[in-house]
Amino acid sequence: MRSSFDQGVTEIERWKWSRPDVSVYTSLVQGLAAALKVSDALKMIDYICRVGVSPSEEEVPFGKVVRCPTCMIAVAVAQPQHGIQIASCAKCRYQYELVSGDITSIDSEAISMDLPAWERGLRLLQLMKQSIPAAVHSIVVQTPSGMARTQRFATETVDLPAQKGERVTIASAVPSNVYRNVGPFKFSPKAPNVYPGEPMCLTNHENGRESLLLRAPVKDGKLSLLNPSVLVPLLAVLVAGDAASGIIDPSLPQFLVVAAISSFGAGATLNTLVFPRLNQLPQKSVDATAIKQKLLSQYDLLQSRIKELKEAAEKEVWMLARMCQLENKIFAVGEPSYRARRTRVKRVREGLENSLEGRIELIDSYARISSMIEIEFEMESDVLAAEALSNVRWRLQAEANDEAERLLSSQPVTTEWI
Ligand SMILES: [Zn+2]
Repeated sequence: MRSSFDQGVTEIERWKWSRPDVSVYTSLVQGLAAALKVSDALKMIDYICRVGVSPSEEEVPFGKVVRCPTCMIAVAVAQPQHGIQIASCAKCRYQYELVSGDITSIDSEAISMDLPAWERGLRLLQLMKQSIPAAVHSIVVQTPSGMARTQRFATETVDLPAQKGERVTIASAVPSNVYRNVGPFKFSPKAPNVYPGEPMCLTNHENGRESLLLRAPVKDGKLSLLNPSVLVPLLAVLVAGDAASGIIDPSLPQFLVVAAISSFGAGATLNTLVFPRLNQLPQKSVDATAIKQKLLSQYDLLQSRIKELKEAAEKEVWMLARMCQLENKIFAVGEPSYRARRTRVKRVREGLENSLEGRIELIDSYARISSMIEIEFEMESDVLAAEALSNVRWRLQAEANDEAERLLSSQPVTTEWI
């Protein structure tokens, strides 16, 4: 292990250890596993995964990467101090509201799967594509600033996407107060087919899992046959097929049904094709975001590779410790007939050591690139924000000085009377 002597800067001269290189870490992990100190070896692997992060309690983590609920690309980072932020996605060009905080209460309820016969039929005919919610949840998320926000949504399974006390980020469609003015028109950069503020995706910071959310059913309400999303496809099928004679009153002139469908159709075209395009952010406004999000996607990919490698390395540490223990046992028994087995165990152990070495080297290089991306990202966002903040402080100070000078100069000069 190399060390450098840090001189002259502080009053107390002290030793400053440079970061050990990967071969030192590898020998440490292998040695600790051989000494059956598995938890220490695992801790060491954890250090290698986080380049430049001090292993103390008071660390400042980079944050959790949050994805766009529509196209699932990495769009933003939720840092520990972040509460509510608006993120734009460079791919779909819509905006989302990200609410990050700890869950202070969660109230979940499984909902019955009894569907009316007609709704089951529509699903069978693939006319209703929405997923069937299995559970509905009401959660209260408290942001770091202390503000609490309640959210109600459903999930496709009865599993809870997060538990009380866990930190989460909920990505929702932007609320109606977020819009851009184009001439006399107001365009809301809200994703299509969702209500303003509707929760769409939950990211659990503890386990890193993302859960897509469904719209919670109206309390004690059932989907009605007269709902346009049900009526239009139903009528289309009925008019096209022979079933029309059975269900629709034969006296109802067919042109009336066709007219109804076409008018619904025109509304549907506006709603599904025209408005969503107009609501998208202009391409130019997301160009800078696109570069940042590409970087973030690479970071996300590296992090998941590191996670996979770490899990595999941890398994190997356990196996290595097991092999070493077995070798010790065979050695302690001292039976000459065990010689062949001992050679076999030794061979396996060496194989594990080599594989572990390769993995640690990969983790180290991935972690290094990850840290470089973190630096780029934080230089772009945090340093700019910090600079802006300090500039504001300087400007306020300068303005205060100007004001003081102006007041002083406006005072009548009295010195000559003294
Ligand atoms: Zn998107």
